[in-house]
Formats: sequence, C-alpha cells, structure tokens
Amino acid sequence: MADIIDGRAIARQLDEKTKAQVDEMIAAGMTRPGLVVILVGEDGASQVYVRRKIKACEKVGINSIEHRLPADTSQEDLLALIDKLNKDPEVHGILCQVPLPEHIDTRLVLRSISPEKDVDGFHPVNVGRLSTGTGGIVPCTPLGVMILLQSVIDDFVGKDAVVIGKSNIVGKPVANLLLDAECTVTVTHIYTHGLPEIARKADIIVAAAGAPELVKGDWVKPGAVIIDVGITRIMGDDGKEKLVGDVAFDECQHAKAITPVPGGVGPMTIACLLANTVQAAKALQSNGARDDHYHDAPSRSMFTKAATNA
Ligand code: NAD
Repeated sequence: MADIIDGRAIARQLDEKTKAQVDEMIAAGMTRPGLVVILVGEDGASQVYVRRKIKACEKVGINSIEHRLPADTSQEDLLALIDKLNKDPEVHGILCQVPLPEHIDTRLVLRSISPEKDVDGFHPVNVGRLSTGTGGIVPCTPLGVMILLQSVIDDFVGKDAVVIGKSNIVGKPVANLLLDAECTVTVTHIYTHGLPEIARKADIIVAAAGAPELVKGDWVKPGAVIIDVGITRIMGDDGKEKLVGDVAFDECQHAKAITPVPGGVGPMTIACLLANTVQAAKALQSNGARDDHYHDAPSRSMFTKAATNA
C-alpha cells in the first residue's frame, strides 16, 4: 500500500510555524502581518474561498481585512483601491479573488498589485523571479506541492519528474520549482503524445490537469511519488456531489506515496498563503531584504536543501 501524504496534518504543522513567526514579529516590535482580500461581485464559490482565507488568518494571528465591492465596481475604482493598499504600511499581502466581473481586465488588476505584496505570486515580477531562481513570492499551490513532496523525498537531485498540466498557476511554477530542486522535468499537457509512457518513467508525478482519474494505475511505476492537484466536482452514484482528483487513487497503491483528494494539496494552498503573507510582512519591514527572508521561508530553501547539500 502506498503511504498517504496527509495534507491536512502537514498544513497544520506549517500553520504552527507561521503562527510562531507572527508571535516572534510582535515580540520584536514589528507590525502584525496584514492580508487584504478583495472580492468583487457575488460569485458563490469565491465567497466561500474568501471566508476560509479570512478564518485561516485569524488562527495564525494575521490581521485580515476584507473589501467586498459590488459587481458593478469600475476598473478605475478597483485600481485606486489597490494603489491605496500598495502604499499602506499595515498591509503586507493583497489578494484579489478571481474571477473578476467581465468589464474588468483581470491581468491589469493583478499586475497593479505591488510585487512585494503579491502573496499569490502571480505578478510577472514574481513569475520572473521564480523562473530565474532569484527569490520572490512562490505561488501558493505549487509551494504546497513542493512541501508535500519534501515530506516523503529526501533527495530530489536527478529524479525524473513529470508534471501533467502547464497552467501559469500550477503546472509551470511546479515545473520551475522541480527544476530548481535539480529534477529532470517533463511538462505535459492535453496535446502531449504518449502521456502514459512518459508518466511511467517518472519518480515524481504531479497531476494538475483537472481531468478526473486521468492517471491510471498502469501509468505509475512502482515506488513513484504522486501529488494529485486536480479537483473536479462530480455527482456520485449516491446522488451526492463529491470531489475527484486527477489520479485513480485505488489503482495507484504500488506508488511509494500519494496525496488523497480531498485532504492533500487543497489544505496546503491556504497554509502557504498565510506563510507567504508573513514572509512578505517580514521582508517589507526589513528594508526590502526579501531574498534573505525568502531563504528562511518555508519555500525554496526547504526543497533546494537536498540539491545544495549534494
Ligand atoms: P487549467 O485548466 O488552467 O490547466 C489544465 C492543464 O492541464 C492544461 O495545461 C491542459 O493542457 C492540461 N490538461 C487538461 N486535460 C488534460 C489531459 N486529459 N491530459 C493531459 N493534460 C491535460 O487548470 P489549473 O488551474 O492548472 O488547475 C488544474 C487542476 O488543479 C484543476 O482541477 C483545479 O481545480 C486544480 N487546482 C487545485 C488547487 C488546490 O488548491 N488544490 C489549486 C489550483 C488548481
């Protein structure tokens, strides 16, 4: 049987570390980390996510401020709010929940967030820092994926990794992080030929396609580690809605370790958002000494350690 990588437990451990860092900051006379979440409109799923994020902030001692704006908010007003938040010394993280209403240019809005406060790690400056291995804020889900991998892999150097999915928010950043950890990385997508054969060679499979149970048992070599990022809501035989991942979990028990859905990557995403907010707050209050803080952060150094020790 494969070991189950317990994302909930690992996220709890990360939250404890984050809370301890907040306490240290307060003891050192620093400003309490503050995260602003902006929600435009009434999207039901977004409201749920925002509530979860705000509640999670409270648990670790991060100040959370929610800005709920009506769906007809103009782009100009939204940009003006972000500009104000960029300059506010009590705000260290700004998160604008997507999707935004159609009349708003999402890219423009996300780019208007200061890269130093972009705790989602989506700003082109942070994307550039990630792809050049020069620090910056690492997007939450990819960071969570790496921490989960690190919980079962001591040495990443030379491992064959296959990433299924090449989105900007999951697949590409995960691939960059795995490259940084000295893996040999193959990035695949919907037009990739011979995906089962490619996957079968992998020591590490990260599935982020949003295709329910795409990865079958015979795509997985014995002893591989599988991280299932996919989440799809389907109707179960009992008529109840359930969440399904990208991996046929029951067929993959010959893997060394595997994440469940739910309870794998999902809980890590919010825990990493909190960790990113605290790192941003520290960096912003240390005259922009970002890179040093980032080397202490539960991010790059954690999974590049194996590589640098080699
Ligand atoms: P996306 O739709 O932006 O990208 C999907 C990628 O998968 C594309 O590159 C596409 O080419 C590839 N793909 C799709 N079907 C495929 C197939 N049959 N074979 C091979 N490749 C295929 O999706 P995304 O935003 O990257 O999200 C991917 C999945 O991860 C979704 O299920 C999403 O809900 C989930 N997700 C989970 C979390 C979390 O916190 N757990 C966070 C983000 C995304």
